[in-house]
Amino acid sequence: MYAIKSYGAQSAEKPLGPLTIDRREPGATDVEIKILYCGVCHTDIHVARNEWGNTLYPVVPGHEIVGTVTRVGSGVTQYKVGDTVGVGCFVDSCGHCKNCLDHNEQYCENGNTMTYNAYEQDKKTITYGGYSSHIVVTEKFVLSVSDKLPLEKVAPLLCAGITTYSPLKHWNVKAGDKLAVLGLGGLGHIAVKLAVSMGAEVTVLSRSKSKEQDALALGAHHFELTNDKENMAKLANTFNYIIDTVSASHDYNEYLALLAIDGVMVLLGIPPTPSEVHAFQLIGGRRSLVGSLIGGIKETQEMLDYCAEHNITSDIELISIDRINEAYERTIAGDVHYRFVVDMASLDN
Ligand code: NAP
Ligand code: ZN
Repeated sequence: MYAIKSYGAQSAEKPLGPLTIDRREPGATDVEIKILYCGVCHTDIHVARNEWGNTLYPVVPGHEIVGTVTRVGSGVTQYKVGDTVGVGCFVDSCGHCKNCLDHNEQYCENGNTMTYNAYEQDKKTITYGGYSSHIVVTEKFVLSVSDKLPLEKVAPLLCAGITTYSPLKHWNVKAGDKLAVLGLGGLGHIAVKLAVSMGAEVTVLSRSKSKEQDALALGAHHFELTNDKENMAKLANTFNYIIDTVSASHDYNEYLALLAIDGVMVLLGIPPTPSEVHAFQLIGGRRSLVGSLIGGIKETQEMLDYCAEHNITSDIELISIDRINEAYERTIAGDVHYRFVVDMASLDN
């Protein structure tokens, strides 16, 4: 073990601050990464503040990691010192259940290992995330990142990118489909770019009038305000897909009503409290309410390659780590354009 610098939360009520944590020395299949950039996902906030009731303190959030390989174990074949790599939302899984064998490690039947606030596969060592100087990850869970795109703008693809790419692929979103993105934040703005690149007719559904110009600049074809009831009524039976990225509780029934026949509403946002869904909203139009969790490692690599090819990155505000608490407040207030990314070099200041 060796000690490194990080930033984390000691309890739900306390702001994040500097923390020293231990990393394991790289084993035979491990890659040690010097972290350059780490995106700030709303999940980091849910977990730092124990909004899902499962936080193990102290917690070091961060799962949108891009960095440089600094050491590799003797058995590592895919990466060498100096390579640019990424790490996303999870760092290990059992490797032998049906879902792991099908490249759906995020749905590991024996429990995957999330990048932070989780247990390693030994089921006792706690993981710490990317608001830190280095991370050590087994090579199967390390992604190759192209140097073609600005790395600070690539970092958010490791969670927001794959979380939106995976359902678009799984439900076969294609040219001509009418797709709405609900909530224009970190996940939402990348969902817009990806869905537009796949040829969908994209509408942003937002409660924030101030985001209208941005939505159109991101490539959306339409922008509709969700807090205007008349406007919402006009949109009934319109969309083939709704990608719901809202992080706070909201009434799913209101949005299900906007789906056309056979429409699919994909939940990505994870509000802290459960919601009631009326059966009529589903039965009325043979509609589906579904959910999706991140994406597997193979698909994450496919997404990174797709984004490099289509020049898709995140719109970001780069911050130093000492501004993380302010970034959390602004994210909660919806004042993020459209992802905060931490320049991890600032840990040394
Ligand atoms: P974010 O940047 O904060 O964006 C969420 C957006 O939702 C906001 O910008 C806002 O958009 C809308 N919103 C927020 N509070 C709202 C409220 N009270 N009422 C209505 N709309 C509200 O968050 P994010 O990082 O994209 O993450 C979004 C959610 O996805 C979080 O719950 C996160 O934990 C979850 N997540 C899930 C997965 C997965 O695998 N399924 C992966 C990553 C994250 P407008 O201002 O446009 O309305
Ligand atoms: Zn995330």
